Amino acid sequence: MLVTLKDVLEIAEKRTCAIGGFNGPNLASILGVLSAAEELNAPVILMHAQSHESYMPLEVVGPILLREAERSSVPVCVHLDHGVDIPYLEKALNLGFTSVMYDGSTLPFEENIANTQKVIRLAAAKGASVEAEIGVMHGAEGSVDHDEDPASVYTDPESAKEFVERTGIDALACSFGTVHGIYLKEPKLDFDRVAKIRKLTGKPIVMHGGSGVSHDDYRKVIARGVRKINYYTYMARAGADNVKKHLAEAKGTVLFEHIESWAMEAIHDDVKKTISVFWESQTPVV
Ligand SMILES: [Zn+2]
Repeated sequence: MLVTLKDVLEIAEKRTCAIGGFNGPNLASILGVLSAAEELNAPVILMHAQSHESYMPLEVVGPILLREAERSSVPVCVHLDHGVDIPYLEKALNLGFTSVMYDGSTLPFEENIANTQKVIRLAAAKGASVEAEIGVMHGAEGSVDHDEDPASVYTDPESAKEFVERTGIDALACSFGTVHGIYLKEPKLDFDRVAKIRKLTGKPIVMHGGSGVSHDDYRKVIARGVRKINYYTYMARAGADNVKKHLAEAKGTVLFEHIESWAMEAIHDDVKKTISVFWESQTPVV
């Protein structure tokens, strides 16, 4: 069933767990994610990232995501990931997306607040939820192989408090040690920072760059207030790796539908393992 981000985050708050947010730039991802969530009977967030527009236009994927969410046996939020311009975000709301992320994290603080307030008004008119970001995450969504120092742009807890108070967002994306894409060295997360932001804002915290983080670290951030975890790159890589393996072993003719089904099978398995951890109840630390 189609629900809002607020709805799934309320489930996560009651259970002290996190809901996975997965990008769906192709049918293999969309169907692989949904079947994994359904097998675990867990809610899920299906996302379209603005940065995936060249692979899959919003007008094409939006109606597919919404229809599959409505048909699903589990609560599914259809969310726009990293909307960086407001007309694009409005297009998603008009299609019926039940949640949008406005990403003004690279803008000056006051400009980020003003734009986020505008998005809040647009989303409210449609009954949709809003996630916004403060602090900067290195790497674009779906990017690979980069090696910046994330500590340079961690979210400041006091600024986060002010940001939440002045915007009234439903979920806050923060920077505390994760990066988008592939980790070249093991991520070191600032758990105290997550706890402090949670304590000061009282809001569900969103962790981007959830791929490649250890299961233990997932449990630790969930105990400290993370309620949505964005996970994409490693599931996409799992799909590609399975395709490579089958292609190397293939004896006869390979058709494109075989490639898609190999990808979907591996995405399904990877996402199922991931949701299993997100969906465990943790003991709250704050
Ligand atoms: Zn992200």
